Amino acid sequence: MEQVQGTRRIKIRQYRLLFALQIAALLCLALSLAAPNLAKEGLAIGELGTPTLSVAPFALIAASVLLLLWMRLWLRREVEAAGAEAARQVALLQVDPLTGAMTRRIFMDALKAATRPHPAGEPCSLALLDVDHFKSLNDSFGHNVGDFALTHLVEVARRTLPGALIGRLGGDEFAVLLPGCDETTALARMEEFLSALKTPTFAANRQLNLSASIGLVTAPRQTSFFEEMILLADLALYESKRRGRGRATLFDPDMLRIKRNRRMIERDLRAAIMLDELDLHYQPITGADQTILGVEALVRWKHPIRGMIPPAEFIPVAEEGALIDMLGEWVLRRACQDLEDLPGRFVSVNVSPSQLRRNDLVEVMKTVLRDSGVAPHQLVLEITENVSLLSIPEVLGRIQSLRTMGIVIALDDFGTGHCTFNYLRSLPVDIVKIDRSYISRLADDPVSRVFVSAVLEIARALRLSVVAEGIETPEEFSLSRAAGCTRFQGYLLGRPSAKPDLIGRAQAQISTRQDSLALTA
Ligand code: C2E
Ligand code: MG
Ligand code: MG
Repeated sequence: MEQVQGTRRIKIRQYRLLFALQIAALLCLALSLAAPNLAKEGLAIGELGTPTLSVAPFALIAASVLLLLWMRLWLRREVEAAGAEAARQVALLQVDPLTGAMTRRIFMDALKAATRPHPAGEPCSLALLDVDHFKSLNDSFGHNVGDFALTHLVEVARRTLPGALIGRLGGDEFAVLLPGCDETTALARMEEFLSALKTPTFAANRQLNLSASIGLVTAPRQTSFFEEMILLADLALYESKRRGRGRATLFDPDMLRIKRNRRMIERDLRAAIMLDELDLHYQPITGADQTILGVEALVRWKHPIRGMIPPAEFIPVAEEGALIDMLGEWVLRRACQDLEDLPGRFVSVNVSPSQLRRNDLVEVMKTVLRDSGVAPHQLVLEITENVSLLSIPEVLGRIQSLRTMGIVIALDDFGTGHCTFNYLRSLPVDIVKIDRSYISRLADDPVSRVFVSAVLEIARALRLSVVAEGIETPEEFSLSRAAGCTRFQGYLLGRPSAKPDLIGRAQAQISTRQDSLALTA
């Protein structure tokens, strides 16, 4: 665009020069006609000796005048076009062409001005916004729907947040400046915006359920520096995402401590993977008679200073970056190596959503199986119930390819995500693991009972195995057995333990069983 503008400017300059030369030439010609001695030369002597006026110089003058008029018109048109183009460029710098929101630069200027020390001490709040699962939306429904979502968000913000300045910082990241709002008012206003955004809308004949994650910070109470406002609002935004998205969170100084902790985990975890300092524990998955059918591999990290760090703390940190790929491959290799010593016929390995997004996942699995000599049907991959992920065709295709290879797929923690029963029919899975929260409430919660029997009913029809997770008491064990579950996992049947402990326990179990068989014989 700028190149076109530049060429146009050069052309205008050249034509202006030509225009000036033409005028100069015309003036010379006119002068030469007017000057008496020169004028004589302009008169030719006719045959009869009467001087006749030659038409050539006049024709030349007329042509030049016409040319000059044309050039003048052309010049004016070009100058106007260049002006309009320049105005458009300025507008482009100020307004995002897709959504009509302010551009990043202009928004930052406005934020800088708003956070300058105010004599009246009037507060202002900054909200950073991210459209939830925007990448999945784009991947699954196409960029037109993605564009629609962004435009819709700005429309809703304009409608529900009068007086606010709305900026698009890039991609699906937006910022809202709420002048005169302290944190309480800002939170209330942003929550109002969120609930309006969550009202279903339609694009390309599809119902869209949009939501956003929001981080909020207030000046001057929390900071008066505009760069710091962005950083703090970003931390609050991260917290909103971590707590399940679709919500607004106010910045809290504790978030800075959490961030430092996250950084430390990331650095030390990388070192732990490289130095082979992680460990795998295995938890038995049994049949109704408590015989071990297989085991689930659960990663363990004993930090040299901080001691045991639970996976719930470090897996999400690993998932934020590329570390999860390293970790995932390490777990897979170790589990496959250990399998031949382990009790049961299979090993179940947890796979993170970000691993499923990897193009080379199938290749990695093939390589690990080949290197370890494990048969595909001995490996179960546990994927979590995640609607936005499982609706991406590439991800589904990858899971299908793994299944075609003979690897068994289990849907972990079923009931905690948002997969409807309908999903069970379409997902390429072999096993459903009912989340512990339903199993632990089987005794006293009718809703959990209805849920568990509905899952079992569908699983029977689809020929899926069902694992009851988190069995802690004999009552939970018998209730889930009575409901129709065929596989069981939980502290009652065996806690996750290191390979040697599990092998020892399994051998003890076998000899006890043999003793009791001998006694009854
Ligand atoms: P999960 O895959 O659902 O694993 C089961 C979790 O429930 C394990 O927690 C296990 O120790 C715990 N558990 C099993 N039986 C009982 C019970 O009877 N009562 C209670 N209260 N808990 C029980 P853990 O090891 O802390 O792992 C937590 C989660 O971390 C796992 O949930 C899984 O999502 C993730 N995780 C663990 N290891 C890995 C891994 O190697 N890779 C990935 N991507 N995620 C992993
Ligand atoms: Mg699992
Ligand atoms: Mg689970």
